Amino acid sequence: MKPTLLYNAHFVALQKRTHNITAVLLNNGIIEKTFIVGKKLPTAMKKIDLKGNYVIPGFIDSHTHLISRGLELQRIDLGKCTSLSECLEKLRAAVQRDDDLAFGSNWDEFMWPHGEKNHLMKETLDKISKKKPVIMRRVCGHFAVVNTKALECIPRQWKIVDRKNGFLYENVVDNLNEIFKSSKGMLEKAIDLATAEAHSHGITTVHEIATPERFRLLQELKRQGRLRLRFAVYIPREYLHEVASLGLSSGLGDDVLKFAGIKIYVDGAIGAQTAALSRPYEHTNNKGMLLITTQRLRNIAEIAEDNGIQLMIHSIGDRATHAVMKTLERSLDKKSYLRHRLEHIELVDDYSIDAMARLNVIASMQPNFVRRWQTPGSMYERYVGTRYKDMNCFKKLLSKGVRVIFGSDCMPIGPLYGIEGVVHHPSITGRLDPGEAMRCYTTAPAYATFDEDKKGMIETGKLGDLVVLDKNPLQEKSLCEAKIVMVFVDGELVYKKNE
Ligand SMILES: [Zn+2]
Repeated sequence: MKPTLLYNAHFVALQKRTHNITAVLLNNGIIEKTFIVGKKLPTAMKKIDLKGNYVIPGFIDSHTHLISRGLELQRIDLGKCTSLSECLEKLRAAVQRDDDLAFGSNWDEFMWPHGEKNHLMKETLDKISKKKPVIMRRVCGHFAVVNTKALECIPRQWKIVDRKNGFLYENVVDNLNEIFKSSKGMLEKAIDLATAEAHSHGITTVHEIATPERFRLLQELKRQGRLRLRFAVYIPREYLHEVASLGLSSGLGDDVLKFAGIKIYVDGAIGAQTAALSRPYEHTNNKGMLLITTQRLRNIAEIAEDNGIQLMIHSIGDRATHAVMKTLERSLDKKSYLRHRLEHIELVDDYSIDAMARLNVIASMQPNFVRRWQTPGSMYERYVGTRYKDMNCFKKLLSKGVRVIFGSDCMPIGPLYGIEGVVHHPSITGRLDPGEAMRCYTTAPAYATFDEDKKGMIETGKLGDLVVLDKNPLQEKSLCEAKIVMVFVDGELVYKKNE
């Protein structure tokens, strides 16, 4: 690749130190040199005029199911359906085509007329087909409804399956892509499609949750020079023992693809009323559930610590996070040098916040949930009542010294979408200014994978991962209108907005 000079731009300083950079030289995949105002620029080389636009470090999406997202792009998207019958119509059309199954995802009953979800069960989907599997997976990814044919394909070993109604919960839902296998061609196409989508949102690195099979495919594509996004991969807990016995520890790999850690689940989700809360969901006696005993969790934490494996711990409810932090406090005698991370922590108590700060446990959170569910009358308020305002308390966590990193969970993918929610958070315990919000999507996630010396900032020697925006992202109003103009990964232009 030829050296390229990006000039005539505002390179935005997201860190405290200001630097007034107006041009950078990209070479060999890195920022080889920066030029401040008034400095003479080199002449004889490839140049790109950024026309006075604003440049920030590439976004790092800290929690993705990108390959699944890519599969979904090849499946039936029910995310925009405003009624159950509209969903069913789309599934029926798929069955009538040649598709060997009808797999619809992203439905959200909060988009439908009130009460309509009560009509969604096995029999409803049997009417669409008795011969082909029909699957409707909820937007949260923790709940799905399937027809009789699909139920027959689900092995008995999966426990949280209501075979009478065709309801699937938790792990089994997560594994639908495994049970109803995708072809290798579909998976490869999934990576290409989702990569293109990620680029269009300014994402240059993802922290991807992937099975060993998918990790292997990523390695294969990398060898062929086909990966154009950086992947830090987290493998499901079932493989912890294999990973540990092989001697794999977090960080193995390179800047394009590496093993980052092990993902475990401690509870469910608010939307499915399975996240473990300290007080019940509104108008119920249900407090959700812990999916793992503290003894088992402690055992996992010790294996992880002994083997240098970072843990990515799904923990949404305040009761879940409290239990996790109590356990970590016992098994880590000092600060975690592995930078373990808790995913989502949508509701969290003060004890847990202090413990996270003390033990250097990262809060990996989803700003887009604010826009989706945290407005008055939305899902959070309906399910947890007045507690909803203080959910996703990014500001409180930061001010107590917890490192907060942002990810989309692909719901939907798009850092700017999420950041807009954060700067308009309904509570001051959550609201951040644009600069703080952007650091949670750039600098902070680099730290989470031990890459703070390599990315997340615009400096000499950092990787050539950059995003060009048409508006100043540090001003709240213009941030919300900003569009992505260009994206560079490894010093190469991977996305350019159509003019
Ligand atoms: Zn997730």
